[in-house]
Amino acid sequence: MEKIAVYAGSFDPITKGHIDIIKRSTKLFDKVIVAVLNNGNKKYWFSLEERKELVKKAIKEPTGNLEVDSFEGLLVNFMEKKGATIVVRGLRAVSDYEYELQLALTNNVIAPIEIETVFLTASRENLYLSSSLVKEIAVNNGDISEFVSEEIIEAIKNKLNDK
Ligand code: ADP
Repeated sequence: MEKIAVYAGSFDPITKGHIDIIKRSTKLFDKVIVAVLNNGNKKYWFSLEERKELVKKAIKEPTGNLEVDSFEGLLVNFMEKKGATIVVRGLRAVSDYEYELQLALTNNVIAPIEIETVFLTASRENLYLSSSLVKEIAVNNGDISEFVSEEIIEAIKNKLNDK
């Protein structure tokens, strides 16, 4: 059976930390679907379409087993539709752990199919990197080139001008 994994998140915007997890996942599984989440209760900087586009732009040399998609509602329903059985999550500092554990255990209870959550530890250089941090630096005219792909820096600056 093909091992299809889903890496879901807001990606608002995608950072080098996310890209690292994506690249490593594509080496582990037959297929990886990066699933951009649209949660009606959350306020995003970038629209769903923009976030999806930024993901595609930021991943410079996508491998053949990578797909970018988006979803609303429950991840487990999206996974069933896609035939995916593995959830990939990135784990940074201890602060991620409690939320991630809650998510993984809850997904197991509500999933209509058998799923497994796999945690990849963030690389050292990305341990404290988050989309919020990138936005905070950008708003204050700081240099974000260490944290996001150069392909999307322009889009982030343009978004700042719209604000
Ligand atoms: P969410 O809204 O689900 O938190 P994010 O886009 O912030 O969406 O994160 C998606 C996934 O990527 C989560 O599993 C998160 O822990 C992981 N992640 C975020 N930043 C990093 C990073 N710097 N290194 C590794 N994993 C990360």
